[in-house]
Amino acid sequence: YTRRVSGADRGDELGSLAETINRMADDLEAQDHHRKELVANVSHELRTPIAALRAVLENVVDGVSAADPETMRTALKQTERLGRLVETLLDLSRLDHGAVPLRARHFEVWPYLSGVLKEAQLTGAAVARRKLASDSGSHTRSDVALALDVSPPELTAYADPERLHQVVANLIDNAVKHSPAAGKVTVRARAGAGPDSLELEIMDEGPGIPRSEWHRVFERFNRGALPHVQKAGSPGGDGGTGLGLAIARWAVDLHGGRIRVAESARGCRMHVTLPGKPLNEQLT
Ligand code: ADP
Repeated sequence: YTRRVSGADRGDELGSLAETINRMADDLEAQDHHRKELVANVSHELRTPIAALRAVLENVVDGVSAADPETMRTALKQTERLGRLVETLLDLSRLDHGAVPLRARHFEVWPYLSGVLKEAQLTGAAVARRKLASDSGSHTRSDVALALDVSPPELTAYADPERLHQVVANLIDNAVKHSPAAGKVTVRARAGAGPDSLELEIMDEGPGIPRSEWHRVFERFNRGALPHVQKAGSPGGDGGTGLGLAIARWAVDLHGGRIRVAESARGCRMHVTLPGKPLNEQLT
């Protein structure tokens, strides 16, 4: 759609027709861009639970871990997650019509976040065990401690739990990935300015992100542009695609919220603000 009609500046009827045509071409181009972005985002999201599921099952098949209820629950969780992702995919296809439903509701932050953390711990540990078994254990993800700090404990939020999961899980995944051995990852939640608005921070003790890259990390496929960060941060190739933060920003944008890298004395500090009232609620 890159061609444009000339004469939009004529000031007569033909000119306004040309203008309309050009505007339609712009719209089509934007939609096409959106669609490509969504396909890329969703594929990225599907890889994580598939990798975790595979690690869990391979561990059982190879006799590295037993097929106990806890292990099976991890596998089940990932299967459920895959199912939800397919649902998301269906939701995303509605973007063609300019509407992604935001299923926001009130919920308690502490039980919600501790569920996300538990899941990150379980899948991280399963992948780490697999790694340990296959390359006689150098750095593993399981030795990173996850801490949750919610205040007040009865804090509530108004958000789409599934979309917020995409945000938090991706940020924790990155934080763990870039953590040094025995590092600590902290998830902090506080009340925001408005009713049910939420301030979230995910902090790690890794190399952090250089200030010069702050504005770029939320763009798609940006990891190639950050080889130094990549090298310093993650042990061995981690199979990342440079889409995690783009997905997180997309999900935050849907809420009308904001995500940014924040000042930190040590490591990386990601800051998320969710307004109590989502901006695009009317669109759904
Ligand atoms: P991916 O992790 O798949 O490369 P992301 O979009 O999640 O893609 O992250 C983009 C880049 O930002 C990463 O490649 C990494 O260089 C940098 N980055 C993200 N999170 C962190 C972090 N917690 N610490 C250091 N660097 C990070």
